[in-house]
Amino acid sequence: KITIIGSNMYELTTFTDHLPKRGETVAGYDFSEGFGGKGANQAIAAARLGADVDLLTVIGKDYFGRQQRQNYADNDINSAGIINGSRGSGVASIFVESSGTNRILVVKRANDELTPSMIDAHQALIRDAQIILLQQEIALATNYHVIELAKKYHVPVMLDPAPANLELDINYVVQVKFFTPNEHELAAVTGLPTYDLADIKRAGQTLIAAGLENLLVTLGSKGVLWMDQHHAQLIPAFPVQAVDTTGAGDAFAGSFAYYYTMGASIDAAIKFANQYAALSVTKYGTQRAYPTKKQMAKMDLP
Ligand code: ADP
Repeated sequence: KITIIGSNMYELTTFTDHLPKRGETVAGYDFSEGFGGKGANQAIAAARLGADVDLLTVIGKDYFGRQQRQNYADNDINSAGIINGSRGSGVASIFVESSGTNRILVVKRANDELTPSMIDAHQALIRDAQIILLQQEIALATNYHVIELAKKYHVPVMLDPAPANLELDINYVVQVKFFTPNEHELAAVTGLPTYDLADIKRAGQTLIAAGLENLLVTLGSKGVLWMDQHHAQLIPAFPVQAVDTTGAGDAFAGSFAYYYTMGASIDAAIKFANQYAALSVTKYGTQRAYPTKKQMAKMDLP
């Protein structure tokens, strides 16, 4: 089974022709609510594909938190790690202009209660996993603690360093089995430029030289650069007409974990995840754009 440790957010999205200036009130033209948070997104992707998923996350003590719990139940995610927090829910206020530009303001709230001691209280979820997925919407100290425990139990970890955090300690990065930054996050971790593929390889090589086992740099419509101690290989993206790429990285992580834990090679799991993430960008929204295994089979794949 797959254990995902991380954030959940309730998304409140407002669509507007233009954003208000300071002191101004503007009428938007549409609004939607939805489920998000990088941890939760990855869990939903894996669960929709049919994986046995535990999500360790702290939900808020409010209406949004109750909606989150229902959403996990609806998607067959195990409930042992869904913790009731004492604070309000993590929320993301999203403003989308008609040009497509978006601005997102995230307030973590209950997610800050996911501490190292809470991890200790749920060690079984780490011990019994085939793979652990981490992102960076919870405290770095919590992620470090998970990486240490996973090492003790010999469970591989996949760390998606999103959103970028300049404080991320490279000594922990090199301990994970899969590190999956996009090019911006790779620049943040290495302090090196990542403008083109040659730059990205050079930056990536510093992590490989420091002992990292697998680096998967996600490159949007270009695909994924996979580097390990022996080779560097660009695995092209699946060609689709993208309408909304939010949550593509999370779709990639969740579907990679699903296929890898089914016994696929790393190469095959990257190809599968490229396909799943590509399908997710052909629809608006984050979790609502993640297909189930059945829907995936029915989709027109070129
Ligand atoms: P992030 O959301 O973390 O920035 P990326 O934008 O790199 O991540 O996207 C993650 C993965 O999603 C890519 O590696 C690719 O497989 C897929 N993807 C993203 N955008 C597209 C696109 N326009 N066309 C096809 N696949 C895409």
